[in-house]
Amino acid sequence: MGFDTCGSRLWMDGKLVDWTQANVHVLTHGLHYGSCVFEGTRVYGGNIFKLEAHNKRLLRSAQILGFEVPYSLEALNQACREAVEAEGFADCYIRPVAWCGSDKMAIDRDNIDIHVAVAAWNMGDYFDDKMRGLKLCLADWRRPDPATAPHDAKASGLYMICSLSKSAAQAKGCDDALMLDWRGQVAEGTGANVFFIRDGALHTPTPDCFLNGITRQTVIGLARDKGLEVIERAILPEELPTFSETFFTGTAAEVTPIRQIDNIHYQIGHVTLGLAQDYNRLVNAKA
Ligand code: PMP
Repeated sequence: MGFDTCGSRLWMDGKLVDWTQANVHVLTHGLHYGSCVFEGTRVYGGNIFKLEAHNKRLLRSAQILGFEVPYSLEALNQACREAVEAEGFADCYIRPVAWCGSDKMAIDRDNIDIHVAVAAWNMGDYFDDKMRGLKLCLADWRRPDPATAPHDAKASGLYMICSLSKSAAQAKGCDDALMLDWRGQVAEGTGANVFFIRDGALHTPTPDCFLNGITRQTVIGLARDKGLEVIERAILPEELPTFSETFFTGTAAEVTPIRQIDNIHYQIGHVTLGLAQDYNRLVNAKA
């Protein structure tokens, strides 16, 4: 069953609609020219984790791309709650998405119609058997220079290189790819941020040309709360063998240990496992 038929109702342009009727025309600006932004949020035990932060980022991502989402933050929050309720999930993933419509088939999108939808679906672990640790390889594609692409928007167009990199990694028998940036520094995964551990301290790339993930910020807070040092800095690929542990963070990935990057092996150690546990506890805490 595809995603076009896997639910009963979702929220689109102001109301709940039948899942199979939530369609767009093939001549849609967002499809042709990448004028589309989205979010991914998880629901734990009926609570939408960091709902407000995700919808704020959706509004900001659209602004960065030069269009205005025609709903307030509170209306988007309510739309997310309605989309979850419509499917009756206590635990699930939510996908808010905003895109430019069909009023225009031209490069500019001035005065174009803007649409918004929110769908909720069942999602278990993003990676199969994730606590065994991921096997990664370095991607051929690089995160672009901020002068080339709007890196702090969660924009669909930026996922072109992520899809290419993830599929190439999987074709080589890996779970995912680690991407470098345009300067050759370590950047992030194809859908997650990355952390490294050396001598008990966390090292993570400065998010100056990729998404500063909400989970990344949450995990930095959790680590500092327990007295761990967190260093945000430029990390070169030559340093990869000097770390003992490494893990991904993301809404879908949560805290996922990494056991191998190309031919470098890592422990799934107590720092990673402790933070994974802390994150689990936080997301499942009743509001
Ligand atoms: N980088 C990329 C490319 C992503 O797709 C994601 C997932 N949204 C992240 C980082 C992590 O972001 P967050 O923790 O806000 O989900």
